[in-house]
Amino acid sequence: MNPPGFDSLTDRIGNTPLMRLNHASDETRCEILGKAEFMNPGGSIKDRAALGIVRDAERRGRLKPGGIVVEGTAGNTGIGLAVVGNSLGYETVIVMPDNQSKDKIDTLKSYGADVRLVPAVPLKDPNHFIHQSERLAEELNETSPNGAVWANQFNNTANRAFHAETTGPEIWEQTQGSVDAFICSVGTGGTLAGVARALKARRPDITIGLADPTGSALYNYYKNGELKVEGTSISEGIGNSRITDNLEGTPIDVPYQIPDEESVPLVYDMIRREGLSLGASSGVNVAGAIRLARELGPGHVIVTLLCDSAMRYRQRLFNREFLAERGLELPDWLSLDD
Ligand code: PMP
Repeated sequence: MNPPGFDSLTDRIGNTPLMRLNHASDETRCEILGKAEFMNPGGSIKDRAALGIVRDAERRGRLKPGGIVVEGTAGNTGIGLAVVGNSLGYETVIVMPDNQSKDKIDTLKSYGADVRLVPAVPLKDPNHFIHQSERLAEELNETSPNGAVWANQFNNTANRAFHAETTGPEIWEQTQGSVDAFICSVGTGGTLAGVARALKARRPDITIGLADPTGSALYNYYKNGELKVEGTSISEGIGNSRITDNLEGTPIDVPYQIPDEESVPLVYDMIRREGLSLGASSGVNVAGAIRLARELGPGHVIVTLLCDSAMRYRQRLFNREFLAERGLELPDWLSLDD
């Protein structure tokens, strides 16, 4: 226990500020509010899933003091697990495909995570990094003195439960119950599923939207009942080609498919006009919130998530050649080449 009045790192996960996105709100005559998840200690929304999964494994007696948390991830979840693990005294082992940017690998290593690179193969291959992480967790559980657990963020519903207990109620309280709609994108689905459940329980007629990037199959699933991928996207951490256990049963009222041509300019707009430097998934989320505002009409309160910072994606979002190959461009006011 902490002495009263003093927080430790895990107490600072969640309870993020909710901020008005002035430009999007003024343009749509709605209140478009972004929850500042990039302000979590590990820098992203995934600190919540990491803490929820670790706390659940502790409660079940599966994670013991000094134990190891293993996950297959190329992104923010690994950082979240390393931050939470270091703070609570657990080791973190991350299995990731060998085609990921050096930046990501170095970031995880700089937190002291044990990073294991494996060949990039399709999910149905038993050597896919997610399956390897499951086997490695079993192996380490047998061989390490304090045991190991597999985080399994896609199908471990401790992920969505944590959002139902924290993110959703926070949004309700911060808007004093005035929230009319919530929308975000889906990676594991933990966030959307948890928040949607918490808000529908408090207000059954609330509108829940899905902002799905091109390159993902979920829009078509919720629109036409068919898991079908269309196009591609530079966004990372979002989109899926399957319905995970976390996403299963989520009450989605309005699905949108958001192309990069719509979301990426919003990323630059938010830097310029709001002072908010955010990753591409936040661009997809805000694009979805704007579409929902137009569909619902003026006067509505719409909440979305600002998941992480643009600085995690410097080599994509601020790389003129990378963008040009995908038909995207940097705005004139960004003079990065000088
Ligand atoms: N945005 C970013 C930047 C992420 O890393 C993730 C998680 N993969 C998400 C959004 C989606 O969150 P969830 O896994 O809860 O669906």
